[in-house]
Amino acid sequence: MASKGSKPTTTDAGIPVSSDEHSLTIGPDGPILLQDHYLIEQMAQFNRERIPERQPHAKGSGAFGHFKVTKDVSRYTKAALFQPNTKTEVLARFSTVAGERGSPDTWRDPRGFALKFYTTEGNYDLVGNNTPVFFIRDPMKFQHFIRSQKRRADSNLRDHDMQWDFWTLSPESAHQVTWLMGDRGIPRTWRNMNGYGSHTYMWVNAKGKKFWVKYHFKTDQGIEFLTQEEADHLAGADGDYHVRDLFNAIQRGDHPSWTLHVQIMPFADADTYRFNPFDLTKVWPHGDYPLIEVGKLTLNRNPTDNHTEIEQAAFEPNNLVPGIGVSPDKMLLGRIFSYADAHRARIGANYKQIPVNRPKSPVHSYSKDGAMRVENVSDPVYAPNSKGGPQADGKRYPGVEIWAADGDMVRAAYSLRKDDDDFGQPGTLVREVMDDDARTRLVSNVVGHLKAGVSKPVLKRALEYWRNIDKDIGDRIAKGVAGK
Ligand code: NDP
Repeated sequence: MASKGSKPTTTDAGIPVSSDEHSLTIGPDGPILLQDHYLIEQMAQFNRERIPERQPHAKGSGAFGHFKVTKDVSRYTKAALFQPNTKTEVLARFSTVAGERGSPDTWRDPRGFALKFYTTEGNYDLVGNNTPVFFIRDPMKFQHFIRSQKRRADSNLRDHDMQWDFWTLSPESAHQVTWLMGDRGIPRTWRNMNGYGSHTYMWVNAKGKKFWVKYHFKTDQGIEFLTQEEADHLAGADGDYHVRDLFNAIQRGDHPSWTLHVQIMPFADADTYRFNPFDLTKVWPHGDYPLIEVGKLTLNRNPTDNHTEIEQAAFEPNNLVPGIGVSPDKMLLGRIFSYADAHRARIGANYKQIPVNRPKSPVHSYSKDGAMRVENVSDPVYAPNSKGGPQADGKRYPGVEIWAADGDMVRAAYSLRKDDDDFGQPGTLVREVMDDDARTRLVSNVVGHLKAGVSKPVLKRALEYWRNIDKDIGDRIAKGVAGK
């Protein structure tokens, strides 16, 4: 008997069913009948519940909220979402990078900080991390980098030797590895970490003036971290520690927020700045380009169905709205292709029609058909046409977010400027930003990591790598590894 007031269970076709518990059999003890289509639907649907997990950033969660502009930055960008007092609905997803969907939240790893702004001029996705830099600067190396952080072919185990082998053969990783091995490598919660756009983007104002921009979402909850010991304990005691913290905080009305600041570089500065400002392994020192406040991101609504709203959420840095463009950052240019491609492979060609990915502004595209398309297409289905179909408005949306480029086609590293090197900024981080206690924790974290199964030649390179970052820290790590 159904309890009073409950809705009658139906099949997926809406047909009322007679039992939630019993399959159709010949007599209570007899065999199950093939025509029990309801049982078959239950089993078949269950077998198809999982979609492929993200490769990488598989473990994560998220929430909804809004972004409110509190300062006037219209002199830098005409983007509708950044105009004074504009409030835009937002989806945020936080994640680890290397771990699988069930992996612990507290492994040492950068954290994804992905935002989707549902603007009046289409979706704007800012797919950032909790770190302002990255391990590499050319997308050719990305696949190799991620494989080195994931699992070996033979044992299917993660392997510190593989990680340090890649890092030490890729000295451009030194800044990100120093950051990762420091306190910020394991945030206490997602609420206690910053988000950075990391890449350099272009902003264009209403008069067509161009700027280079970097985004910094500073946590209003304050930066807090977990020590390696705390994180190791939590990895066993509560693998979903960060997921739980965010969900519970929002549920109890403790809505986390971040204040967005930007660094703005005048367009022409990029040519003459002392290092390549588009190199993703470097920050722009605050002293050169101070932070400018823009507004506040607040998360205040949990998902009701994690699968449809978070697991199927598709963030893609190519979702750029008028007034915002890319820069010559090679990593960013690689990501412009790879994210949408990953979504097509993981979710399907029509992933943008899933409600969480669907823009809140009108869509007038000529895309058509494909698996699982649910929105009707209407004629005309081609352009140009004389039948009243959508027409690009190049006058209103001239696509000015561009720069000039010239030269031979080459496969080469960025050309070097005076201050372009791999070890300067991580050295500054160790010597000038960290205090004595933070340096001691850094040494201890690196020693623990290196002791967990790194081969002799790789260890030799790792010690050299750390001495290049900072001689004293390198010597302390060498001593620690030797057990002195
Ligand atoms: P500043 O002294 O102005 O900035 C240092 C920044 O370092 C702080 O503002 C803070 O970033 C961040 N920071 C503080 N503690 C840690 C830590 N334990 N691990 C990682 N980052 C930390 O100097 P500069 O701008 O000249 O930068 C000096 C160095 O600081 C850089 O080489 C870089 O390693 C690091 N850094 C710089 C950032 C930038 O955008 N300029 C951003 C983050 C780090 P925040 O205010 O964002 O919390």
